[in-house]
Amino acid sequence: MKKDKLIILGAGIAGLVCAHVLCRYFREVIIIDRDELGGESIRRGASQSAHQHVLLKKGQMILFKYFPHLRNQLKARGCIYVDWAEDTIWDNSFGRFPIYKSNIKTLSMSRPLLESLIFKEVVKNKKIKFIKGNIKSVNDDIEINSGEIFKGDLIIGAMGGLNKFNKNLLLKKRIILDLTYRSVVFNSDDLNILGAKQYYFQTSPKGDFPGGVICPIEDGKVIATIIEYGSKLCRRDKSFSNFLDIANMIPNGKFREIIGEAKPIGHVSTYFKKDMTLYSNSKINQKIIFLGDSLCSLNPTFGQGMTTALQMIVELEKKVKSNEFSVNSYNKICQKVIRRPFLLADLGSRKSGVLKILLDLYLRLVMKNIRIHLFFLKQLHLIKKEVIV
Ligand SMILES: Cc1cc2nc3c(=O)[nH]c(=O)nc-3n(C[C@H](O)[C@H](O)[C@H](O)COP(=O)(O)OP(=O)(O)OC[C@H]3O[C@@H](n4cnc5c(N)ncnc54)[C@H](O)[C@@H]3O)c2cc1C
Repeated sequence: MKKDKLIILGAGIAGLVCAHVLCRYFREVIIIDRDELGGESIRRGASQSAHQHVLLKKGQMILFKYFPHLRNQLKARGCIYVDWAEDTIWDNSFGRFPIYKSNIKTLSMSRPLLESLIFKEVVKNKKIKFIKGNIKSVNDDIEINSGEIFKGDLIIGAMGGLNKFNKNLLLKKRIILDLTYRSVVFNSDDLNILGAKQYYFQTSPKGDFPGGVICPIEDGKVIATIIEYGSKLCRRDKSFSNFLDIANMIPNGKFREIIGEAKPIGHVSTYFKKDMTLYSNSKINQKIIFLGDSLCSLNPTFGQGMTTALQMIVELEKKVKSNEFSVNSYNKICQKVIRRPFLLADLGSRKSGVLKILLDLYLRLVMKNIRIHLFFLKQLHLIKKEVIV
């Protein structure tokens, strides 16, 4: 592959990190997005950012290596470390996960802050040129709404899960989720998370009750997110009173108790996710690959999307660096990266069947045994070995 020009379609987490990592191997990098970038407000092309976005341990390990200042930048904005067992109260319909020092700790931030800090780093690089435009066609050439045409030696599709261009790829699996997210932000001083730093009530894909998450973000704030499968309730109702009504339906009452009489900052945001999908990169063109949500859009309740995208970038860098790149060989590696998170998301999205029964049995074991819980946390955070922060 000639390494003259790299074109990246989409400047979400995957596109930005790709540009940052691959720019050292190409003479010029062009990154195209239709949104105004760099701010911390919710933009149209990434409206899911209004909702809780956890960056798993594996994702943090990758990002902090690529962006050595990021950890301190996040801390400077008041982001705090959360231990996923010691600082987390995690309930589900079987009870509560054990509380102990696990050393599986992550910094907790909002997705807009994370993206804007990455953008500010990437934009400093003179080799990377940002183009504002709506991508109209993805073939040998890329055309944007202004009529401008772009040609590259390698083209990376990172336009997220809702883009229409991955329809040209081979759809391997589609699982209906019917997930509704509702989120609102509070001042952390106004809430007592039962003495912990974050609270989870895990919902069930059977849709018989909503679940909820309350976790810290930057600037002394927390985000509270309610998650429902197959919601019969109105998604358009963004009133706080409606949010509280649904919060009242979360079993055991702890989520609602934590919110108490606190007043929210800003309005309630909602998001509907119909399905999770897995595509194969083989192949619309020998020069084009898709990654991130464009290739594989997971069940977001497991918080694996950004980390899986980052893992795909790590593998892409290895291929580009070694001059062994081909669409087919990269596709094979991508499918391997996706296997574990997709399996977890697939299993966790089942409403019935033997695998659902087995998963429920496993969750009951996780409740009772710290070693099994630690194993569960490592699977969730996509890490294998013991990690000390
Ligand atoms: C409700 C919800 C909650 C989630 N929670 C988590 C979580 O806790 N943890 C986690 O890791 N992941 C989570 N995810 C998944 C996460 O959002 C994605 O995995 C991640 O955003 C993928 O990044 P990406 O860069 O591939 O796509 P995106 O971030 O979606 O970026 C795509 C970019 O492409 C641009 N674009 C799209 N089409 C065009 C076009 N035609 N022309 C120009 N530009 C275009 C968009 O403007 C956007 O900037 C969640 C997802 C949802 C829906």
